[in-house]
Amino acid sequence: MQPTVSQFCQELIAQLSGFLDGELDAALCQAIERHLATCRYCRVVVDTTEKTLLLYRDAPAEAVPRDVHAHLIKALGLESHANPTPPSHLLHTTVLH
Ligand SMILES: [Zn+2]
Repeated sequence: MQPTVSQFCQELIAQLSGFLDGELDAALCQAIERHLATCRYCRVVVDTTEKTLLLYRDAPAEAVPRDVHAHLIKALGLESHANPTPPSHLLHTTVLH
């Protein structure tokens, strides 16, 4: 079943990045928020876009998974700088076995 996409939906989507950036004026934001409360289609579009933007914009460095980070370091040729001495207890276990 196709969702109903109104003229407002199309305009909203055209303005979406401005809306998410808080660049639209308050009256327009309110109109959009009111519309989002009733329009499932736009809510999904806004949610998805918002999540995608947040992922790329605000992801802190430590959110990068460890193995990805290691690959990056390797790829960038930074291995020698980012190779800390293993904790002594780990080193000890390795030596014993
Ligand atoms: Zn809509």
